[in-house]
Amino acid sequence: MTDIYDAVVVGGGPCGATAANHLARAGRSVLLLDRAGRIKPCGGAIPPRLIQDFGIPDDLLAARVTSARMIAPSARAVDMPIESGFVGMVDRAVFDEWLRERAAANGAVRRTGQFEAIGRDAAGNALVRFRSADGSQDTVAARVVIGADGAKSKVAAQCIPGARDIPHVFAYHEIVRAPAAGFDGTRCDVYYQGRLSPDFYGWVFPHGETASVGSGSMQKGFSLRQSVTNLRQAAGLADADTIRREGAPIPLHPMRRWDDGRDVIVAGDAAGVVAPASGEGIYYAMEGGRLAAGAADAFLASGNPGVLRSARRQFMRAHGRVFWILRMMQWFWYSSDKRRERFVSICQDADVQRLTWDSYMNKRLTRKNPAAHARIFFKDLAHLLGLVSA
Ligand SMILES: Cc1cc2nc3c(=O)[nH]c(=O)nc-3n(C[C@H](O)[C@H](O)[C@H](O)COP(=O)(O)OP(=O)(O)OC[C@H]3O[C@@H](n4cnc5c(N)ncnc54)[C@H](O)[C@@H]3O)c2cc1C
Repeated sequence: MTDIYDAVVVGGGPCGATAANHLARAGRSVLLLDRAGRIKPCGGAIPPRLIQDFGIPDDLLAARVTSARMIAPSARAVDMPIESGFVGMVDRAVFDEWLRERAAANGAVRRTGQFEAIGRDAAGNALVRFRSADGSQDTVAARVVIGADGAKSKVAAQCIPGARDIPHVFAYHEIVRAPAAGFDGTRCDVYYQGRLSPDFYGWVFPHGETASVGSGSMQKGFSLRQSVTNLRQAAGLADADTIRREGAPIPLHPMRRWDDGRDVIVAGDAAGVVAPASGEGIYYAMEGGRLAAGAADAFLASGNPGVLRSARRQFMRAHGRVFWILRMMQWFWYSSDKRRERFVSICQDADVQRLTWDSYMNKRLTRKNPAAHARIFFKDLAHLLGLVSA
């Protein structure tokens, strides 16, 4: 065992690849460890803020979405056009590999292997043990470890108290060939119907030549496969060719601690950071990766493990309020078909549409128009109290 890196990043998804890229660019020696061979199941929707902040080139976008259709339990549909701009759709096999290669081009060393555990050498350095692609066991030493190994992270489970208790939605989707006729490749459809998900939603997201048709739920025993079969029927995609069927958990609660107070920090899905209600995680994973890299860099410079806490602090300062609002929304609006019907009804409102798109696209709560906020508040209240009909 000879290799000692400033940082070992476990997991080469959007979070880990971004963290490795930032540390390599800061001049740190970085090993990016990723197990190979599995495409991350994902709808692949990314906001313009991500494209700008993380320098994503146009040719990585498989489609550009310019509106969303919200579909109520009664099958009533409300369209939400985007006034300016678009939502990018990425193919995760291509997107993730591009991010890993960018990190490598900036100096990160890539290794393929399955992380197993963190041990300690005599000097107290972290020893990251993993199984290589050929089945042999290997170990590298690190001054700091970033756990970016996704939902149900092994790094978090081993190093961060409480990691095993994060609630998850299980999401399942089928990648189908998009029909040549009668399919709008510029629109995301979102189904708020209890029969498709009792506590989340179903979706049809276009990806150029393919589409992701999926659903999620926290309810054990709810058949997501049956739900997606029903969804395909409702969306006119029952006869479309199926290319892949796959599922994965989505964590829905940021962990209280992201670091172990010594030399390990987690981010992205590994830290439970996915937006409630929407399940959006790619932007937050990359932002978490960037902040974890910054905290790791500060730790390497100072030797003070206290600085590792700054990643979570900065993240929650920027996004904590939105996460709280989304959690309340999911809890309230996704709890019965009666409420879902009202929720879709609210989406018809021009102020709601503007605020929703603005906060999704730019990742900040706009303060541009306080009068619109007040109007939304009173309209929401009227709906909550049942003073207006759906
Ligand atoms: C069905 C579905 C649809 C979704 N749709 C969207 C969407 O449209 N838009 C959106 O923003 N978000 C979406 N999400 C959420 C999004 O996919 C995640 O939040 C995001 O991928 C998190 O990035 P990450 O880098 O933290 O984790 P991941 O993307 O999960 O990456 C983790 C990496 O770690 C590697 N790894 C795991 N274990 C080990 C190990 N032991 N050793 C080595 N490597 C390991 C994995 O191979 C992977 O490369 C969706 C999720 C699901 C399940």
